Amino acid sequence: MIRKIRLFTPGPTPLLPAAQFAMAAADIHHRTPEFRALFTKVLAQLKDFVGTKSDVIVLSSSGTGAMEASVSNLTSPGDRVLVLSAGKFGERWTALAKAFGCAVDVVEAPYGETFSIDKVKEALKLETRAVFMQATETSTGARHCVPAVAKLLKDSNSEALLVVDAITGLGTSHFDMDGWGVDVMIGGSQKAVMIPPGLSYLAVSDRAWDRMEATYNPRYYFDLRKERKNAVKGESAYTPPVALIAALGAALDYIAAQAATPENPAGSLVEGRKKLVENAETIAAMTRAAVTALGFRLFAPECPSAAATAVYAPEGVDSGIICKELKGRFGATITNGQGEMQGKIFRFAHLGFFDSLDTIALVGALEHVVATKLNMPGFEWGKGLIAAQKVLAGRKPNQAAEQTCICGRTDACCSLQHPDYGAGTVKPVH
Ligand SMILES: *Cc1c(COP(=O)(O)O)cnc(C)c1O
Repeated sequence: MIRKIRLFTPGPTPLLPAAQFAMAAADIHHRTPEFRALFTKVLAQLKDFVGTKSDVIVLSSSGTGAMEASVSNLTSPGDRVLVLSAGKFGERWTALAKAFGCAVDVVEAPYGETFSIDKVKEALKLETRAVFMQATETSTGARHCVPAVAKLLKDSNSEALLVVDAITGLGTSHFDMDGWGVDVMIGGSQKAVMIPPGLSYLAVSDRAWDRMEATYNPRYYFDLRKERKNAVKGESAYTPPVALIAALGAALDYIAAQAATPENPAGSLVEGRKKLVENAETIAAMTRAAVTALGFRLFAPECPSAAATAVYAPEGVDSGIICKELKGRFGATITNGQGEMQGKIFRFAHLGFFDSLDTIALVGALEHVVATKLNMPGFEWGKGLIAAQKVLAGRKPNQAAEQTCICGRTDACCSLQHPDYGAGTVKPVH
């Protein structure tokens, strides 16, 4: 038997072959018309991918670099900020804001849950200058309700900027950055856009650009205003990772082409992005159905994200065994829990160059591990696969948001519905 190594991890994710070819061919200097044409095209594509008219800035860093840039560019020492935290990445916002001297208020929810909007409302002060949150908390597989927070800020006439780490949210959730009033939306290259780590990008609203005129936290390499000036000329301030930018262009072409029509064979990024979200929503639903049918418990059942699914290992079993068996026997790389969740949960990702067929294979592999390594009551071969197949077979185009609120909660949540989809049947609670 041979083993084919596959990534089922929430970053890095499997690479798109066309993007790898583009990288290999990207032998160009960054102060040339060729690069300027490429960079200008990619920046315009990113606007459509994020879904905004605001300027998008690309940085040479992993996602955390863009998180840091949004703190250093938008705050001054002593500024009061609010962090909404329910996992490892939420905690990163708190650490970052403290590192830049902010006075940090935190609304916390237990791992695997999302915070209550009422608590956010209570914690929001007149002097709150910025609110930092994740769209999807990758460490727990939970989705947070960005539009509900945006609406709260709008309704309270707050001056706080809303900064969203959408590093695994982009490409797995529907967003309307401009319509909802999000000020900064952050993405990373090794997530839904199917290319290697090393690039981060952030869309920045006019309000946030204005704020930068008055803030004075130190910044040099990650100076967004400097990058914006250079971007107008099709350049970046310092030597950019040219190969990754070429890869990103190829990946965004691929995403656009998912919505190709005979009249428009290149497709469109606005429509292609919806297909990508639908893909993630579908395989996340397949995964949830499969693991539940096999007798596992979900870690974030109330507010599941489509970026990654976190699953409890059975009582008394270290989740590391499941990761090790999947890797050792099938070459399938999944992730353990982070921090204190390590050993308790395992996580399957649904983003990147990854589809329903990959999901079926992964569920099949998991059944082997359950059958031979885990003593789970009621196990029968095929139970997980049948559940996954039924979800896939029952999927209609645009199903994703018919069943759930845009925030992903299936029980009850905000009444805001994505404009691309009809009204859902969920009961508004906030
Ligand atoms: C991957 C990820 C990040 C960024 O991590 P880096 O290792 O710096 O790329 C930030 N937030 C979330 C939610 C993520 O999933």
